[in-house]
Amino acid sequence: MAEEEEPKRVARANVKHVFGVVSGKGGVGKSLVTSLLASELNKRGYKVGILDADVTGPSIPKTFGITSHVTADEDGMNPRATESGIKVMSVNMLLPEEDMPVAWRGPVVSGIINQFWGETNWEDIDYMLVDMPPGTSDVFLTVMHQLPCEGIITVSAPQELVGMIVGKAVRLAHDMDVRVLGLVENMAYFKCDECGKKHYIFGEPQGKEIAERYQIPSFATLPLDPEFTRMVDAGKLEEYDIESALDGIIQKLEITAAQSDGAKRTAAESAEVDDEEE
Ligand SMILES: [Zn+2]
Repeated sequence: MAEEEEPKRVARANVKHVFGVVSGKGGVGKSLVTSLLASELNKRGYKVGILDADVTGPSIPKTFGITSHVTADEDGMNPRATESGIKVMSVNMLLPEEDMPVAWRGPVVSGIINQFWGETNWEDIDYMLVDMPPGTSDVFLTVMHQLPCEGIITVSAPQELVGMIVGKAVRLAHDMDVRVLGLVENMAYFKCDECGKKHYIFGEPQGKEIAERYQIPSFATLPLDPEFTRMVDAGKLEEYDIESALDGIIQKLEITAAQSDGAKRTAAESAEVDDEEE
């Protein structure tokens, strides 16, 4: 093949696995959970990216202390890397002022998501986490239609767990033909910086029971921890030690990724057999 006929390299070909992080409503710490999951995956040696699709309240760059803007060259936009090397794309990094309100309409937002996905030089990524806007929106549908999302993690606060919100997320995911792989019950208890104890101010965590009820294969319980809040405010999320709290979810992501790699290999092999038979 002559050099000029070679197809232009598509950045997304190097992105191996995509998972979405969703919540029924805002204020449950979904973006922080996305950042923690990314950080945990990164600590395990994977190449990790975060596509911040929460365009109405993009907060990912802040949790990692990223203040610089996105640059672009002829191949597309270049994501910013966190201190430990997680690559991030966010509307915040396009705006002249970080706190500028974003009130764009659906089609514009969908266009941005497509650019973040298709026209960004992600290079090699093992795990791409997509931080979704809360609730269901055009963005959710765009991501589900445009990105090869292999599953979603849903984040809830304890008060809403008993409600319909988890069930709604599960049904929606089912409609979109994507699996809910994990449930994170965030801010489930208070990790007291005075006495060091866990205070269950909202009662006993219910994540396990709810996960079982909706047949969600993994769950995690995260605290409300003043130390964590301090680190996030300082843009030092990566230095926080979540201990083993997210291990179950991470393991489920790894298993799902391995299964999908296996399925891709089988498909490639049977395509080879077809070629030989011709
Ligand atoms: Zn206490």
